[in-house]
Amino acid sequence: MTDPRELFAAYLRQRLDLGEPALILDSVPVTDERRRAQTSPDEHEVAAPARPRSTELDRARPPSLDRARPAEGARTEKGWRRGAPPIPPTGLVVSAAEKDLFSADPLSGMGLEEIAAAVRQCDRCVLCRERANAVPGEGPADARLVVVGEGPGATEDQTGRPFVGRAGQLLTEILAAIELPRERVFICNVVKCRPPENRKPQQDEIDACVPYLYRQLDLIRPKVILAMGNTAAETLLKTRQSLGSLRGRVHQFRGVPLVVTYHPAALLRNPHWKKPTWDDVRIARQLVDA
Ligand code: URA
Ligand code: SF4
Repeated sequence: MTDPRELFAAYLRQRLDLGEPALILDSVPVTDERRRAQTSPDEHEVAAPARPRSTELDRARPPSLDRARPAEGARTEKGWRRGAPPIPPTGLVVSAAEKDLFSADPLSGMGLEEIAAAVRQCDRCVLCRERANAVPGEGPADARLVVVGEGPGATEDQTGRPFVGRAGQLLTEILAAIELPRERVFICNVVKCRPPENRKPQQDEIDACVPYLYRQLDLIRPKVILAMGNTAAETLLKTRQSLGSLRGRVHQFRGVPLVVTYHPAALLRNPHWKKPTWDDVRIARQLVDA
């Protein structure tokens, strides 16, 4: 394999296998000069006549992963599907709350917009005091995937939108890499207002806020819930089991498959978790199609 484009493609595949959730290629044109610079004179003399002259368009295109893939059918799967782990066995099962005929749930008649409006006016816990904006969550009402994080950070508090800071950018890339652009995903959090200094939300705050999340999930009824980080996993699964032990199983939340993975903010701190996260999201992605 001496063609620099093949070498580069192999390098990109390796990065992907090592857990890079997305590869951003710039589109610096690969000119003949650049090719010559990357190829030894001998190789260039031999290789050049074998390849048809490329068009301008071809030169401007970044080296594609497909181009260097063996043609023999050894690797027929493409993109996120290649090397995706099999769907693991069932884990914890959280059933729907028993309907209490005598205590009317004030959220039960509300749609997603009404929930969002109620969240923006909410003062059920102390987190309302310091928020600039509540962050109800966003995404289509018929989303097949719902991502649940912990709570808004500074950028989310300023904009009123979930996952738009650095961790959010990483989430956006992860979703793009599994061919579920974030516009098609409902993205929200356990608590809808930013905890001061980004501290973890306290249990009483979670208890006050979680009915909004439950109602959102009941309305959307996605095919899969992706719980990112401890707070989302513990809250939805009503457990104190560690995140590590909750991975590798498909749990059920009110009849909806739920996959647990690391929080994108944790990935920014600890890149070793990228590979396991990439596995988890590909399990979730398969369940979206199932
Ligand atoms: N972290 C979260 O858990 N949620 C956000 O919306 C942003 C960062
Ligand atoms: Fe209300 Fe939730 Fe905000 Fe607390 S965090 S004020 S419960 S919306």
